[in-house]
Amino acid sequence: MSAFAYRNGELHAEGVPLSDIAARYGTPCYVYSRAAFEAAFDEYSTAFAGTRHLICYAMKANSNLAVLDLFARLGCGFDIVSGGELARVLAVGGDPAKVVYSGVGKTEAEMEQALAAGIRCFNVESAAELDRLDAVAGRVGRRAPVSLRVNPDVDPHTHPYIATGLKESKFGIAYQDALALYRRAATLPNLDIRGVDMHIGSQITEVEPYREAATRILELVDALRAEGIALAHVDLGGGLGIRYRDEHPLRVAEYAQMVRSLFAGRSETLVFEPGRRLVGAGGILLTRVLYLKPGTPKGFAIVDAAMNDLVRPSLYDAWHPVDAVRPRTGDVHPWDIVGPICESGDFLARDRHLALAADDLIAIGAAGAYGLAMSSNYNSRPRACEVLVDERDTHLVRRRESVSDLFAHESVLPRDRAPIT
Ligand SMILES: *Cc1c(COP(=O)(O)O)cnc(C)c1O
Repeated sequence: MSAFAYRNGELHAEGVPLSDIAARYGTPCYVYSRAAFEAAFDEYSTAFAGTRHLICYAMKANSNLAVLDLFARLGCGFDIVSGGELARVLAVGGDPAKVVYSGVGKTEAEMEQALAAGIRCFNVESAAELDRLDAVAGRVGRRAPVSLRVNPDVDPHTHPYIATGLKESKFGIAYQDALALYRRAATLPNLDIRGVDMHIGSQITEVEPYREAATRILELVDALRAEGIALAHVDLGGGLGIRYRDEHPLRVAEYAQMVRSLFAGRSETLVFEPGRRLVGAGGILLTRVLYLKPGTPKGFAIVDAAMNDLVRPSLYDAWHPVDAVRPRTGDVHPWDIVGPICESGDFLARDRHLALAADDLIAIGAAGAYGLAMSSNYNSRPRACEVLVDERDTHLVRRRESVSDLFAHESVLPRDRAPIT
């Protein structure tokens, strides 16, 4: 059963009517379901039960502390992409030994911070980064655990902005360069070679690209072993898709079956970096209709959430489900659901057939991943609040920003000089 379902004519989050949440916390508001997050983790972890594995939640999808805390309590690790993310993991008491660190642009300060914390592995994405990490580790007197992110050059059949494993992508090390770079890594004094890593893209709905990519990665692992470079883990990345519209996302069990058969009889620990799959379906963006602008062939429903709150439709042309919290009977019209921002690209959904009136509440579905995490203050709009629902309880896990928060870090020039005339 979905965590968001209608009861008595009203959309609920678990046991709580969304209108109660709007009344208590205001709109726009992200609403998350604890049960949905935990069920998604459970699906992953059940699928790999009995294998040596570590699930590292790719926390850039939703890095709210309450969400991280829930996953940490379940024994989940984290895939981070910045020092800020590492600080969040540590803030909730997450285990640094379950942290893998991805990203093409780690700074020296971030490397030092991660070495001091004792993370499990750096996923190194270039030869230059490898040298830098060796030097930093030497300077601070530690050995850096490393894995190379190898680009298997496989097309994941997804949106170009979220395909990351093609050879023209900025991510990872070209497959044909990987062997030589491992050889070099083995000669660097301050590195410990631990594994190999791949992440071929996001919102992937088929198993084939994974099979192809993982097969290539295992060929590399075997070639390395033949040279005396043994890898303790293979990190297959994240990217499993969810249902936004009519996709048929692959079941984790189906993915796991493929992985299990490829790894049968092998000794490497499996590492996974799911992001969207763990949190996407467990969140909605709750917003209120401010004004209706009827028109032909379609009208505009202007709501109090905008592209600064949820940028996916504008950025990726992503389709999110839109549902009235209390569907009304009456004439259905096609509406573009748009925000107050001064950009024509500011839309949350287009051409949705709904019966709407001003002040109605609307839920933008499947917004738990890359929602608030990608939000901005464009147009000086305070960020939305985040509410985590746990059965009949609601918890405000991020308060709505205030307008004074918006310019708390800004200042004006001193007044001691006359303006140039
Ligand atoms: C973004 C990212 C992920 C998670 O991707 P999803 O599609 O959200 O699962 C995993 N690994 C790396 C390196 C990433 O950059």
